[in-house]
This record gives sequence, structure tokens and C-alpha cells, in this order.
Amino acid sequence: MNCPRDGAALADAKINECRLGKCPACHGLWLDSGVMEDLFKLPGAKVESCVQVLPGTEDGAPPHMTGYMRCPRCIDGRLQGITYTLANSIRIYRCENCLGLWMDETELDAILREEKWLKSAYSPDHLRQHLGRRVRPHA
Ligand SMILES: [Zn+2]
Ligand SMILES: [Zn+2]
Repeated sequence: MNCPRDGAALADAKINECRLGKCPACHGLWLDSGVMEDLFKLPGAKVESCVQVLPGTEDGAPPHMTGYMRCPRCIDGRLQGITYTLANSIRIYRCENCLGLWMDETELDAILREEKWLKSAYSPDHLRQHLGRRVRPHA
């Protein structure tokens, strides 16, 4: 697999048991379809620093770049920019063919951070606590 940004061979990497591809040049990440859902289940919101590159996978085919961003998985897959919107909009890329996701450095953490924040801000428990709290104590 090659980086859609710069053509460098993506290293096989993992976060816990989630497998992904990491570009050694620009540090972007490739997530196959469904991997993001698994990452949402991890307890922490800072996972980019936990990416482990598996040994011996960093070399590969020489770079070949074309005019558009190419899916590292699919020969003819073209990556489309999409806006991943939670509280802020984060622009990532998705292959319309295999639904894999490409994100540049720091974007995965940003998405996970927002996902955790939204869950804690809008969880039923939080709402219940919030609604059950008195604004000011009764005299
Ligand atoms: Zn790259
Ligand atoms: Zn694809």
C-alpha cells in the first residue's frame, strides 16, 4: 500500500488489536472500513502516539504519484474528501469503493477526542446529573 499523499510505502501498524497503515513520511494513517468503529471503543482519546509500526514493513514499491489521491487498497479507488462532522468539522478522505479512510497526522486523535467529548457531554448519565442538580441551594 502506498501513501495517497506522497507515495511512500505504508507500514503495517496497529493500535491495540486494530490494524492500520501508517505513512513513515507524512505520518498519515490509513484505516480500512470498520476500523474507526473499533477505535471508538478504545478507552483513550489519544491513540496516535500508541501506533506501533510492525517491524520489516516499511519498505515497498517505489512512489508513483498521479493527479488525484489514490486508495492504497484499490487499484482504481479514488479518495474523496469528506467532512467528518462532530463538534468541529475535520476533513478526511474516504475511498468510495472500499470505504477505507485516510487521515493526516493528528486528525485521528482529533476525531476520537470529539467522539469521547460528545459521549460524555450527552450521555444519559450526564444529562440526568445535570438535570437533577439544583442551580442554587434552597434556603
Ligand atoms: Zn505520506
Ligand atoms: Zn479503496
